[in-house]
Amino acid sequence: KIPLIGLTGGIGSGKTAVSALLGGYGAGIIDTDKISHQITAPGGEAIPLITEAFGADFIDTHGALNRPKMRAVVFDDPSARQALERITHPLIQEETIKQALELAKSGVPYLVFVVPLLIESGFWTKLIDYLVVVDCPEEIQIQRVMHRNNMTRSEVEKILNAQTSRNARLTPANAVIENQGSLDELKPAVLKLHQQLLKILEEPLS
Ligand code: ATP
Repeated sequence: KIPLIGLTGGIGSGKTAVSALLGGYGAGIIDTDKISHQITAPGGEAIPLITEAFGADFIDTHGALNRPKMRAVVFDDPSARQALERITHPLIQEETIKQALELAKSGVPYLVFVVPLLIESGFWTKLIDYLVVVDCPEEIQIQRVMHRNNMTRSEVEKILNAQTSRNARLTPANAVIENQGSLDELKPAVLKLHQQLLKILEEPLS
């Protein structure tokens, strides 16, 4: 059986950067954030269901989910968030399994599921054999996301406060990648992780 690795971390921690490096070493990468964008792009499978549940107002002129509008609604309204997740999560999970089966056939040594809210979800925690957490101090997350998304400090802090705490994520981790230095410093750490993951191939997974 091919090892299934979960990769998570808070917003701006560096999940994408780490998964890109692992992909470069030959790992099979499945990015659930990308899948979530695909299913809500024009013609995406979630679009008719979102239109039905929330109304056509939430779809932009191109036929894609109007993300800023939806974000504004679901951020402060748990029942709206749950309604959206009841639509998107099964579609994301189904597409993940489809991609996983394809990648497994292609001969990659292990699969990495990149999932922002992995810890919070029974589906992912049950699926994976091994959990990798990308970690850095919150202040660094705040600086990166302010810069990348052109957001104010308080906007980023609001998102951080709504996510699982750093400690709750680190507790179940089987491996932690520290991403508080430069991207050049990240490379050797990720190579070491890749080698460690190849090694667990040789041992039975607990
Ligand atoms: P999100 O959950 O928000 O999608 P993420 O965990 O995937 O974020 P990345 O997109 O990899 O995080 O990184 C966030 C931003 O910080 C990106 O603009 C990325 O280029 C930058 N970044 C990541 N790691 C480093 C680093 N070690 N040094 C400098 N910049 C970094």
